[in-house]
Amino acid sequence: LVALRDIRKSYGDVEVLRGVSFDVHRGEVVCLIGPSGSGKTTLVRCINHLEKIQSGRITVDGELIGYREHKGRIIEDSEKRIADRRQKIGMVFQRFNLFPHLTALENVTVGPVRVQGRDPKTVTAEARELLARVKLADRAGHYPSQLSGGQQQRVAIARALAMKPAVMLFDEPTSALDPETVGEVLEVMKELALTGTTMIVVTHEMGFARDVANRIVMMDQGAVVEIGSAEQIFTNPQQERTKAFFKAMR
Ligand code: ATP
Repeated sequence: LVALRDIRKSYGDVEVLRGVSFDVHRGEVVCLIGPSGSGKTTLVRCINHLEKIQSGRITVDGELIGYREHKGRIIEDSEKRIADRRQKIGMVFQRFNLFPHLTALENVTVGPVRVQGRDPKTVTAEARELLARVKLADRAGHYPSQLSGGQQQRVAIARALAMKPAVMLFDEPTSALDPETVGEVLEVMKELALTGTTMIVVTHEMGFARDVANRIVMMDQGAVVEIGSAEQIFTNPQQERTKAFFKAMR
């Protein structure tokens, strides 16, 4: 479903992604792990073209993201087509950045109604179901400021799902939360995984990665060190770098 081929990304002279390639299959949960600064956040931001890449190609559902072929060359796509393609990709950030002046329900409906031009009644019914799915049915009328961090992050998840994306990207979705609300967000993500949502998750939550991921991608210094099943990576890592990373986490 998602194919990354030799992704390279630099900020000035600093190469932060040095040729990253892997695939994510439909229904799969892939966790990106690795030390701080290894390029995990940058990689997920490249997948939905919040960051431009210097070379390589990213496809979602067979369609190039951010770029298109033109007379045998790859050029950046138009803003409109980038926005269209981005609808296939749901994104949940570290900070929830909900619209503060909209209720939880309105935060979920605004994208499908305004961007996708869908029928408000149908969208509202779907949004209520999504809020129920993230266990916030009783908070539909609350504003973000009236919700805890964990609740806001669950609204953000519902908002991303409302666009019916093919894949959901999560960039350390629990790292900005109070410890007591981390569990409820991970629980919702676990349920999404169980219902077959394709997910790419940057996380430092090793328990979650171990329980939920189908595959783990271990990154260091802008490159993939090792890819394997959660079982293999956690019980029998092949690379010294992966072993050292787990050791440092203890
Ligand atoms: P963390 O786990 O701490 O979030 P990460 O693995 O997600 O780390 P990135 O945030 O992707 O790592 O950062 C990779 C490298 O790119 C770091 O060295 C960082 O300093 C650098 N970097 C990230 N964003 C920018 C930017 N906008 N301009 C310049 N350098 C950047």
